[in-house]
Amino acid sequence: MAFDQPLPKSLSPSRLSDFQTCPRRYQHGSIERLPQPASYASAKGRFIHYVFEHLFSLEGDQRTIDRAREYLTPAIDEILTDDVRRDIGFDEAMLAKLLVESDAILLRYFEMEDPTTVTSEGVELRLGVDVNGAPLYGILDRLDRDPDGSLTIVDYKTGALPNRNYDSKTFANTELYAALCEAKLGERPSTIRLMYVAHGQSIERSVTDVVVKARASAAASAWTKINRYYEDGDFPATPSSNACRFCAFKELCRSQGVPVPAR
Ligand code: SF4
Repeated sequence: MAFDQPLPKSLSPSRLSDFQTCPRRYQHGSIERLPQPASYASAKGRFIHYVFEHLFSLEGDQRTIDRAREYLTPAIDEILTDDVRRDIGFDEAMLAKLLVESDAILLRYFEMEDPTTVTSEGVELRLGVDVNGAPLYGILDRLDRDPDGSLTIVDYKTGALPNRNYDSKTFANTELYAALCEAKLGERPSTIRLMYVAHGQSIERSVTDVVVKARASAAASAWTKINRYYEDGDFPATPSSNACRFCAFKELCRSQGVPVPAR
């Protein structure tokens, strides 16, 4: 079966993760562009990212919690579109919950760092570059210039903390961002910081040459496979409990005879 839709022109870390988790998920989401309904958690994540993006658009000395709170109201209109409201069953009680949780996140965030002291090289920084033949594209939450002159990739996380034995997947997307930075800006960030702003905790990892090369190589290999599956007209399904649990395409897969685990 040939696809009616064109192959995407670029590969983002999250789409790469889709592909590596299950190529069929990539087919449905990135080639066929089937809708993936928003969830309360995804809407809250975008809501908080909106506030941080605008907070960091201010001059350093203006980045106070009161200024951050001013962006909660515009975020309601910008992020909670009619489609999102329909998907998540939005009502007044949900709005109240969202605002209370968002304010708690802001309080925790301001305990984690003082944004007036942060020197940012970019916020919602869009980078696209060809790496080892793969057209990579990503949007970094923040790229900081540290006092010692090095760069740190900062990624906000609004969900749960990884368990204590977190694995390399926890950093996979951001390590690919490091490869993007190196290829596009000619400078490799030295550190990745994941800020779990709902929990007031950060985890960090140094960026090494070996890791950046490995991530770039894995992305290039995936891009080669994506092109091949696209030409074949079929991306194989690789169902598993972990892959399918939060997948938006469960019912479609089941209707096509894919043995999707019940949970
Ligand atoms: S439901 Fe499972 S098999 Fe189907 S696309 Fe999603 S992850 Fe793949």
